[in-house]
Amino acid sequence: MDVEVFKFGGASVNSAQAVQNMASIVKRYHDAGRQMVIVVSAMGKTTNALEQLVPNAKQEDEQEIIFKNLVDYHLQIVRHLFPNPSDEIYVRLRALFADLEESRKRSSGEYNYDYDQVVSYGELLSTTIISAYLEQCGVGNQWVDVRKIIVTDGANRCAQVDWSRTMENREALEQFLKGGRSVVTQGFIAASKEGVTTTLGREGSDYTAAVLSYMLEVKRMTIWKDVPGFLNADPKYFPDTVKIEEMPYHEAIEQAYYGASVIHPKTIKPLQNKQIPLYIKSFINPEAEGSVVGPYEVIKPQIPLYIFKENQVLMSIMPKDFSFIAEENLQRIFSILSQVGVSVNLMQNSALSFSICIDYNKILIDQLIERLSADFKVRYNREMELVTVRHYTQEIIDSIVAGRKVFLEQRSRDTAQLVVED
Ligand code: ASP
Ligand code: MG
Repeated sequence: MDVEVFKFGGASVNSAQAVQNMASIVKRYHDAGRQMVIVVSAMGKTTNALEQLVPNAKQEDEQEIIFKNLVDYHLQIVRHLFPNPSDEIYVRLRALFADLEESRKRSSGEYNYDYDQVVSYGELLSTTIISAYLEQCGVGNQWVDVRKIIVTDGANRCAQVDWSRTMENREALEQFLKGGRSVVTQGFIAASKEGVTTTLGREGSDYTAAVLSYMLEVKRMTIWKDVPGFLNADPKYFPDTVKIEEMPYHEAIEQAYYGASVIHPKTIKPLQNKQIPLYIKSFINPEAEGSVVGPYEVIKPQIPLYIFKENQVLMSIMPKDFSFIAEENLQRIFSILSQVGVSVNLMQNSALSFSICIDYNKILIDQLIERLSADFKVRYNREMELVTVRHYTQEIIDSIVAGRKVFLEQRSRDTAQLVVED
């Protein structure tokens, strides 16, 4: 289909000025005759605020204040964009706020279910506002409830896409695009086959855009970000970052796997399967080139890529009975890790001990130690940093270590990983 998918994240729509800027980008493409499916996240930090509004997440009086601030935040943006107080948008927003107010006060007793019912309002609000604003700017569009399109397995808070049921909705989605209008829809949210609202996991809007790109077999997908493209390191940790011009799909998947936060890890695979290029462009400087993830053989330019993960814990797990670290022990350790819900960033074993590097989370680590202690001795170090370098050289490794103590090191042909003191 001759349609392209755009994804705008929370930072690109976090104020009235930001929405105006976003609309001007969309309008330029619209005026050039392009048709778009525009996937939008919740505005600014709305999802964080909504997490606090899940029943029992906070005291009622605190929640009252958070709710009020959230309403004010959206209204203040909307007043800028729609100066006429009798604009229809105000009626629609009032209805959404009333529904949210009801949802946040109705506890089912099941946290993950309640979470999805409340948190999904961030995207419902943002897309309602943006669809109306684009229409006002002359970008004819259809607001689509993505919960009618993307079907999941119903697992609240981290739903998996049910691809075959989702693909059955392809025609419905295409219907909305008939006649040349663009579509505005929500990232991150979806629904079970019974129609219960679910979410795809934090930062899941990139993935939504990829699912829709796959469904429609679009020519390209673009993620509009506050960075110039795919950088070779997070500028927070690195002074002289270089923008990647061309990034092979497999390299982007490796990057996301090792923790690069540019794109959601699940985003690339659906695009790769249909050979759809992914553009990463700056909404601050929309004319600039950006980066392309696509069917390339090598990265261009060929430079090392760095991924830094702070606040890590390095844990060593040793069998109490002096057995070796063998299949039975590993099986037991992995089953405890998955029961507790801890994901492992790096692992290594020797004859007598198994080491893992994981994100620091007090509650999960206490649970993990408690479960492991029946059969294992556990030791751990906090305040570690995990550095991953793809396409490393010895000089790079030396400069990262630079006098710091290395607790663990692993190298393959392409990738070096070091656990060092933070
Ligand atoms: N609004 C959701 C979040 O903040 C999804 C997204 O932004 O991609 O996690
Ligand atoms: Mg976001």
